[in-house]
Amino acid sequence: MPADAAAVSPASAPPGPGPGPGPGRTVPVTGWGRTAPTAARLLRPRTYDETVAAVRACGARGGIARGLGRAYGDAAQNAGGAVLDMTGLDRVHAIDADGGTVLCDAGVSLHRLMEVLLPLGWFVPVTPGTRQVTVGGAIAADIHGKNHHVSGSFARHVLSFELLTANGEIRTVVPGTPLFDATAGGMGLTGVVLTATVRLLPVETSWMSVDTERARDLDDLLVRLTATDRYYRYSVAWIDLLARGASTGRAVLTRGEHAPLEALESRKSASTRVRGGRFRRGDALRRDALTSPLEFQPQRLPAAPAFVPEGLLGRTAVGLFNELWYRRAPRARTGELQRISTFFHPLDGVPHWNRIYGRSGFVQYQFVVGYGQEEALRRIVDRISARRCPSFLAVLKRFGEGDPGWLSFPMPGWTLALDIPASLPGLGAFLDTLDEEVAAAAGRVYLAKDARLRPELLAAMYPRLPEFRALRGELDPGGVFVSDLARRLSL
Ligand SMILES: Cc1cc2nc3c(=O)[nH]c(=O)nc-3n(C[C@H](O)[C@H](O)[C@H](O)COP(=O)(O)OP(=O)(O)OC[C@H]3O[C@@H](n4cnc5c(N)ncnc54)[C@H](O)[C@@H]3O)c2cc1C
Repeated sequence: MPADAAAVSPASAPPGPGPGPGPGRTVPVTGWGRTAPTAARLLRPRTYDETVAAVRACGARGGIARGLGRAYGDAAQNAGGAVLDMTGLDRVHAIDADGGTVLCDAGVSLHRLMEVLLPLGWFVPVTPGTRQVTVGGAIAADIHGKNHHVSGSFARHVLSFELLTANGEIRTVVPGTPLFDATAGGMGLTGVVLTATVRLLPVETSWMSVDTERARDLDDLLVRLTATDRYYRYSVAWIDLLARGASTGRAVLTRGEHAPLEALESRKSASTRVRGGRFRRGDALRRDALTSPLEFQPQRLPAAPAFVPEGLLGRTAVGLFNELWYRRAPRARTGELQRISTFFHPLDGVPHWNRIYGRSGFVQYQFVVGYGQEEALRRIVDRISARRCPSFLAVLKRFGEGDPGWLSFPMPGWTLALDIPASLPGLGAFLDTLDEEVAAAAGRVYLAKDARLRPELLAAMYPRLPEFRALRGELDPGGVFVSDLARRLSL
């Protein structure tokens, strides 16, 4: 057993022993990109005892924890083995409303945390582009948000977690230990996170004050981001990857901060006009926004249809969308008030939006290259633009300091993420060439998004992979925890 972790009994465990998770049903499982489904026995434990029983019952093909399935690729799949759906462990155990911490089960979603925490004046320290992820999934992928350049990734705010390891022990794991650093970003392969204590961010309102500006091309974008990112807690650029020639890399920058109470009050005076949850400059806030400034009420649109014809999102449609999106954005606007859900999670408003790519699904490609590697970034953006990848969801941002997780994705530098329909001819070979460019620039691709990286490049991208493999070998010699991602990349 590694020296850094003490075996404990789960003090916060709900009354057990539970009835056990049962044999489970065999179902096809995919990631959010809906590519490469594999069949697995799905177990849904609801107590810690049931989770222990589920791990013991994994069988020869092992098991892997799964949260809300928002990893795009195969990280939470396990062909022929067991998948432990952890969303049945969803209790918020304790909130320290003075100190700003929460102790909760790993299956609790960030959405649920926002519902309970915002009215108390607290916010999650890091949120990805969807709040439909669990705390366990956030630790396992060591997720980053629009605030990475100032706040780092999720695990930096985790004070401790309880981990169920392969031999059935439950250990309390704290930062600064090898087991913590192997688990943060370790894609569920060190064990099952059962609970976590997370440090929170104080906020006065559930509104964001947002500045928007356009960048005419990639160079303009990099200059603007470099010069001003540090003034914003949250910062991201939507980039038009179908634009070519002089406009290659044109973008819309959106930066923001949690709006203080006085920002709401100063909007009180003018008219009562409200458009789509968005208050423009000079507009008044609705009375309820002022009387309950910490209200959290995300809007929901109708779900995407179950069947969408292939090719709907071709170059023409996406090109048109990108053109409109760019032109619709203000050249420069400051201090716009937006709801938290609008600013951080616009896609969550459309349930099952991943269906819009049709049956063959889509790939999300996200990489990072370090500062000083701007030429590599330019080459990659040029190649994507020249290849005419129909991508309307492409974002660029700057990462701050790297995180201690051995397989954590962020490192100081530029990160670009884009969605591409999986049916695009020659996509695999094209992305392989981008991987090579990324690896040559000492960058890396994000495992939580990956569905197709070849294993040869992994060690160059993640220099601490040998330590990860060694710890995993010691902790789980029988290979109880395994996933399609782990097999594909020999993690
Ligand atoms: C629209 C969208 C936007 C996104 N934006 C971002 C972003 O901005 N930044 C970012 O970093 N990511 C982003 N992601 C990716 C997402 O944050 C991660 O994939 C996250 O891990 C998903 O969490 P989940 O609970 O759905 O976990 P799953 O997808 O179910 O699993 C992901 C990994 O976590 C492991 N895991 C889950 N629960 C546990 C547990 N209890 N114990 C141990 N391991 C566990 C799984 O084994 C798997 O390896 C985005 C995804 C989507 C769909």
